Amino acid sequence: MATTPSRDVAARLGEAFADYAPSAEGRDIVTIRPEYGLVIGGAERPAADGATITTIDPSTGDALARVAEAGAADVDAAVAAARRAYDGAWGAASPRDRAKLLFRLARLLQDRAREFAVLETLDGGKPIREARDVDVPLAAQHLFYHAGWADKLEYAVPGMRARALGVVGQIIPWNFPLLMAAWKLAPALACGNTVVLKPAETSPLTALLLAELVDEAGFPPGVVNVVTGAGATGAALVDHPGVAKIAFTGSTAVGKGIRRALAGRGVRLTLELGGKGAHIVFDDAAIDQAIEGIVDGIFFNQGHVCCAGSRLLVQETVAGDVMERLRARMELLRVGDPLDKNTDVGAINSHSQLVRIREFVDGAVEEGCAVHQPSRGVPDAGFFYPPTLVTDVGGSERIAREEVFGPVLTVQSFRTEREAVDRANSTRYGLSAGVWTEKGARILWMADNLHAGVVWANTFNRFDAASPFGGVRESGFGREGGRHGLEAYLDLTPVRA
Ligand code: ADP
Repeated sequence: MATTPSRDVAARLGEAFADYAPSAEGRDIVTIRPEYGLVIGGAERPAADGATITTIDPSTGDALARVAEAGAADVDAAVAAARRAYDGAWGAASPRDRAKLLFRLARLLQDRAREFAVLETLDGGKPIREARDVDVPLAAQHLFYHAGWADKLEYAVPGMRARALGVVGQIIPWNFPLLMAAWKLAPALACGNTVVLKPAETSPLTALLLAELVDEAGFPPGVVNVVTGAGATGAALVDHPGVAKIAFTGSTAVGKGIRRALAGRGVRLTLELGGKGAHIVFDDAAIDQAIEGIVDGIFFNQGHVCCAGSRLLVQETVAGDVMERLRARMELLRVGDPLDKNTDVGAINSHSQLVRIREFVDGAVEEGCAVHQPSRGVPDAGFFYPPTLVTDVGGSERIAREEVFGPVLTVQSFRTEREAVDRANSTRYGLSAGVWTEKGARILWMADNLHAGVVWANTFNRFDAASPFGGVRESGFGREGGRHGLEAYLDLTPVRA
């Protein structure tokens, strides 16, 4: 099992970090230990029953490390540690102290940005360019942003007294492991809660490294606990009577199960679930820019994005032109080694996800759709799937209705704004949508009528810590980011006049 794949990594990275200041003199690009324990009460320990899971590099299939798999007893210990911290040092910390520690954590993350980016790419398969330019900077931005709120909560929700909830359980998915950890931890800690965080089983390493920085920053032990494991570990956290709130990001199926499990228990819940985002291009749009937006909308992070623009709707008058340019652009996409800075589309996160994507596309063909893929192939080793267009789509096919979570875009055309909106809304999801048009009034009308928590205009997949993110319908409820995101971690009572 690899422990320090630095030399190999350095060769594969080439000049990906040529424009980056080195994190620390002489430090290895990344050090991966053979084994990782659970982080409970500021100390690392194996699972009580010794269980482990192996996390792999999906671009090679090689094992990276063994990680403890927490059972119910471990989850119980983590919640107890979080409670002790809440009743003790963290509860006693002033808002300004919380801010100071979050600022420090954000800076530590920036200092080690390169290491985090490489580790994220190794463990998850995303292109290093994305890990470097999106995941890590945005994770740091969330920590900075929420550090700023920690001592200003009385202004966040005027007229209300804001108190922390207590111990918060946070369950995150495998597609943005570090970023989701930061999205979840930053508001929870800013608001004064303590946390038990459950990373996803296929990509736990950056959350564990972040936990090391939490300690280094000086947070009291037990404020952030990390229980690695799979679904059963998450379920044990949901079932634990000591958590005041569960924040979950993941599939709609699991999210529904969590909501059922919490029914009637008085535990707060926010769910950020799947999506089937419509990406709508009108004939007056700047087509070249729209093409870049479409490509980014579906091929960013191999399409492992809940808010991906996975359904392209093109106005009939420009459909031929858009398809021609899109196909030409797809020929230029490089699918391959995620550590290569020129890679556009990295590895599929797991073998099971690769199988699922294949099943979706094969099923689409059986249902009468046409499939287009670029002429260059994909690497043989590891888990890769080519960027894929699915045309001749009626709308009732499985691929048009369900979330694929892969680099697969369905295409349909429309004539009028009304038809575009109706098509876009003909889904059980409601997370994201995108509109490309030069007409401001049309953008506003579309935004009013689209059933989506986030509507982008003349861009796609843009995120900012100040901007609330979340869904409607079966894409979930609650917001993350912005002032709205704080409310999910606060107990609010009216201030008496
Ligand atoms: P995906 O289908 O994208 O893998 P999941 O919803 O299965 O998404 O996983 C998201 C997160 O939820 C992961 O951390 C996973 O381990 C966790 N999880 C899976 N099943 C359950 C469950 N029954 N209860 C709580 N957490 C779960």
